[in-house]
Amino acid sequence: MKYISDELEKIKKSGLYRKLNIVGSAQGTHLEINGKTYLNFCSNNYLGLANNPLVIKAVKDAVEKYGWGAGASRLVSGNMKLHEALEGEISRFKGKEASIVFPTGYMANIGTISSLVSKGDLVICDKLNHASIIDGCRLSGADFRVYPHCDIEKLENVLMKSTKYSRKLIVTDTVFSMDGDLAPLPDIVRIARKCNAMVMVDEAHGTGVFGKRGGGVVEHFNLSEKVNIIMGTLSKAVGSLGGYVSGDADLINYLRNKARSFMYTTALPPAVCAASIAAIKLIRENPSLRTSLWNNVRYLKEKLELLNFNVISSESPIIPILIGDAKKAVDVSKFLYKKGILIPAIRPPTVPAKSSRLRMTVMSAHTRKDLERLLEVLSDVQNLFMPEFT
Ligand SMILES: *Cc1c(COP(=O)(O)O)cnc(C)c1O
Repeated sequence: MKYISDELEKIKKSGLYRKLNIVGSAQGTHLEINGKTYLNFCSNNYLGLANNPLVIKAVKDAVEKYGWGAGASRLVSGNMKLHEALEGEISRFKGKEASIVFPTGYMANIGTISSLVSKGDLVICDKLNHASIIDGCRLSGADFRVYPHCDIEKLENVLMKSTKYSRKLIVTDTVFSMDGDLAPLPDIVRIARKCNAMVMVDEAHGTGVFGKRGGGVVEHFNLSEKVNIIMGTLSKAVGSLGGYVSGDADLINYLRNKARSFMYTTALPPAVCAASIAAIKLIRENPSLRTSLWNNVRYLKEKLELLNFNVISSESPIIPILIGDAKKAVDVSKFLYKKGILIPAIRPPTVPAKSSRLRMTVMSAHTRKDLERLLEVLSDVQNLFMPEFT
């Protein structure tokens, strides 16, 4: 087993070693770590629903009625009323005929992609797609092409040269998780139609954040009829756990019969589904949650630009600050931590070399005071770490 300690040593030497923090409080705008309180600017819990009283109430009621565990896979005896109710709720939310819920978004992606295409087919990805999409593509055994980030012309070129494939699948994040920008969905859908390819989107960071009713980027662009396969997670703005795919009834029945990460794993505890149902209702019925989120995003971006930070091409509550060098990014993140602010440094291999960054996420519940404190510390960062900017 010496290779294990050798490899760990190597990771440490290259400055890429990862450690876990231990959070001793519920998820909110502030987190307690080792007895100290930190301002949280790295949560995907955009709307604060992970700790919402109505969500907690729904969980308690569900536990009273159904107990905790689901006891078996969905296809054996684990398929309970709340799984079905959640799938119905997601279908209405997404404007699709049917939906299937997986234990996580990661499992939804690997199970779905590897069921839709296989050896002899083609799957095409944006360069910055999430790791779970990449893993699904590899697992599928299909030929796998990548186009430069959001480069529609290159996507079209790949498709034009791929007429020999009878099955072609384009997969893209709708909101890119490290840059915070949006995929050009209307163009992707248009090209897919022209070249007879299927479109699958990952709404992990879009759901609850974009669209009039919070349905996601697909709703924002009014494309729900034209996107064949809408995937997403219940673990981000929905504040719960689980992954889903929405589409027409045939697609969903097909996945129920084909997706191994659905078939060969235990169903989610029913109370987890109750939390997701309650949270989706809150998202649909409370546009004010989204309004305060977007007010915070706009305010922060404006101020960051005045401070001359490069927020790359962010169009969402994911706001990166480009640093470049990996070690410097870690040093800045450590400095922020000392000042009581949580913002992780994102380094290769998660992002390309020399594009290490701080990755901030904003929540609806951040107060103006929280944002002012962040900006105050970031202006110190400017002076201490980035003399070239001042
Ligand atoms: C977080 C994320 C996933 C995985 O979802 P989980 O439910 O956390 O497993 C998939 N795709 C994207 C784009 C994500 O950001």
